Amino acid sequence: MAVPKSKISKSKRNMRRSHDALIISAYDECANCGELKRPHHVCGACGHYNDREVIDNADAA
Ligand SMILES: [Zn+2]
Repeated sequence: MAVPKSKISKSKRNMRRSHDALIISAYDECANCGELKRPHHVCGACGHYNDREVIDNADAA
């Protein structure tokens, strides 16, 4: 069985756990229209991604 060579100090353990409280949000506001959209996805309401219109929705606007 693999065994740790030395004890992890409380400090090192807590440093490792410092990111545990971060929560990944499933939805984000679109920068263009404010609609909720999935992060790293094109906005379904206005077709914008990264401050640029990538899908031409004539009926959306
Ligand atoms: Zn949008």
